[in-house]
Amino acid sequence: MITVDIEEERKEIIRRYRRLLRRAKPFLKDNDAKLIKKAFNTSLEAHKEMRRKSGEPYIYHPLAVAQICVDEIGLGTTSIVAALLHDVVEDTEIELEEIEADFGPKVAKIIDGLTKISGVFDHGSSQQAENFRKMLLTLSEDVRVILVKLADRLHNMRTLGSMPRHKQLKIISETIYLYAPLAHRLGLYAIKSELEDLWLKYTETEVYNEIASKIAESKSSRSRFIRSFLLPIQDEMNKSGLKYEVKGRPKSIHSIWNKMKKQNIPFEEVYDLFAIRITLDTDYDNEKAACWHVYSIVTDFYKPNPDRLRDWISTPKGNGYESLHTTVMSKTGKWVEVQIRTKRMDEIAEKGYAAHWKYKDGMGSSHESGLEQWIGHVREMLQQNDTSAIEFVDDFRANLFHDEVFVFTPKGDLKILPFGATALDFAFDIHTEVGAKCLGAKVNNKLVPINYELKNGDQVEILTSIKQKPNEDWLHFAVTSKAKSKIKDTLKEAKKIAAIDGKEIVKRKLKQMKIPFDGDIANQLRALFDEKTVTDFYYKVGKGLIDPAEIRRYKELKTVKTPEKTKRTERSYTDDIKKVSPSHDILLIGEDMDRVDYKLAKCCNPIPGDDVFGFVTVNEGIKVHRTTCPNAPELLSNHGNRIVKSKWMSQQQTAFLASLRIIGTDRVGLIRDVTDIISRELKVNMRSITIDTETGIFDGTIVLYINSTKHLDQLIKKLEKVNGVMKVTRFDETSEND
Ligand code: MN
Repeated sequence: MITVDIEEERKEIIRRYRRLLRRAKPFLKDNDAKLIKKAFNTSLEAHKEMRRKSGEPYIYHPLAVAQICVDEIGLGTTSIVAALLHDVVEDTEIELEEIEADFGPKVAKIIDGLTKISGVFDHGSSQQAENFRKMLLTLSEDVRVILVKLADRLHNMRTLGSMPRHKQLKIISETIYLYAPLAHRLGLYAIKSELEDLWLKYTETEVYNEIASKIAESKSSRSRFIRSFLLPIQDEMNKSGLKYEVKGRPKSIHSIWNKMKKQNIPFEEVYDLFAIRITLDTDYDNEKAACWHVYSIVTDFYKPNPDRLRDWISTPKGNGYESLHTTVMSKTGKWVEVQIRTKRMDEIAEKGYAAHWKYKDGMGSSHESGLEQWIGHVREMLQQNDTSAIEFVDDFRANLFHDEVFVFTPKGDLKILPFGATALDFAFDIHTEVGAKCLGAKVNNKLVPINYELKNGDQVEILTSIKQKPNEDWLHFAVTSKAKSKIKDTLKEAKKIAAIDGKEIVKRKLKQMKIPFDGDIANQLRALFDEKTVTDFYYKVGKGLIDPAEIRRYKELKTVKTPEKTKRTERSYTDDIKKVSPSHDILLIGEDMDRVDYKLAKCCNPIPGDDVFGFVTVNEGIKVHRTTCPNAPELLSNHGNRIVKSKWMSQQQTAFLASLRIIGTDRVGLIRDVTDIISRELKVNMRSITIDTETGIFDGTIVLYINSTKHLDQLIKKLEKVNGVMKVTRFDETSEND
């Protein structure tokens, strides 16, 4: 039992509250301070009996979220008030109506968007997905909902240490799946990077620590390098009378890790560990010229790589990011990325959306804001509320991370579409009718099919025909959620018509069989034909995919009870599986850590010792995935209610599948040496081996059965000692989605 010094705590709460006020002060108007005080007192009173998992007073959390809103996103009073009250409606007695009466409709609306939906969800739906959709619904009216939510999420991630492991897993997965991409889309780079770093910290702790300490170790040599690199540049900038600041910033741990993984190289070989940033202090009218002036100075001293010039000043990114990037060769033979931007651009890059709006007033420029366009898209997507929440989140997410492609209409208007967008997407972007009737396009005056992938600078003219109509294949040709949802709508419409026909046929058939038609019978027929929904069943009948004569089978089977598909809860899933459990395995599953039957997911092949979780599948019982499985974020964040806790109890003589990649210089006898170790020395069974020996390089993949991570580590060490072998790594076969 920890004793708490109540008096000391009270002082600390006041200290934190004062710090918040102090930082917000420069932006406060008229009654703002009073309003914030009122919100603080309401929150303090409402949460007074509550403590966080860490044991701290709960009020620290809303205070910290408000502080993030001010310091890191640059938000004002409404958001501060909303942040202070964000957990009040969900966690305490206070109702939304009271908030509205005390703080007005704007604050109430934001808090409503932040309050989770409670209640029962249909099978196949997900509470997280529903909550996310609800939050986005409010976004289209007030983007501050998302910004406060991101601040909330960031603080929860920063304080994740005191959470139990299964909660951690759920939170980090949602974060990497939705919130980090969302922060990216809103241009909040600092928050996005921190979320990703924290995700890595709790997923691959060792890797995270190793990279973090290597960054710290190399700090002084890096500073030395940057100083000498900048010397001639600064000299020249001073002579030109430019006002500027320079900074050398290491890349985020997550992005370094990504590079190491993608290129399969150690930390030491990642060449762009850091970027140099030159931030200019200049008038708005002079910005572009000044940035290019600095570019010219930099490239006078160092040779640029022409493939790596990025001009996001002439064409800002969709999320508002503006900057000029170049990569140049330093005197030590290392490539160095230099980012050139102004103070205004820098603030937008760091604080994203909020800063964007701050600067937008009074510029009165032709600045077409990509963000505004994006929020417009979200609004449109939300209006098609026919899709299931999960489908919606997937579509939405698909649109978050994409880079953009810039194309032009025949009249020369610029359209920004996600990277990979096709002529069909372009058509739907112009108008739903144009999309639905799209036959093909003329790109730069050449005829192309509807699935033509657009390239930067393309000028696109859409060709239509009144006879054209969307079909299933179109879903593969479109990448934007707008086009996809419009195509789905049309297909659904067509399906509905076929389903109506089908229903009539079924009714007629039943009448002939003298069976009265009702919903129960429809559902039993659905089960008999193994269709997901009754509509699917009607549709297939209507389309002639199910022969109406087959319905007779119903009569024969009527005496046999058809399996009823009912709504299931998490409980009943595990219960079902427990019943069939042969209980001889060593993986413990569920809250009670029971032995139940399970299968190992093929997408990540877990082995004893791996950090794992169980996933309740619809047809195949519990599947066990590694927490680092590429499918984990999607499963954990969209289907949280189907996750069951799993843990290895001990390591026994059971074999598991793992894949190894071996790279080395080829020599006669190498394969024999490798396979010898595997089969003879360690008594391991190989399932398959594939080897590529192009141009003297040995590149082999071995799939084998081993007993545990320890066993695998031993094997890797042995293999690495074989003459000619350079590297042995374990990898996941990600081709299969399990
Ligand atoms: Mn919260």
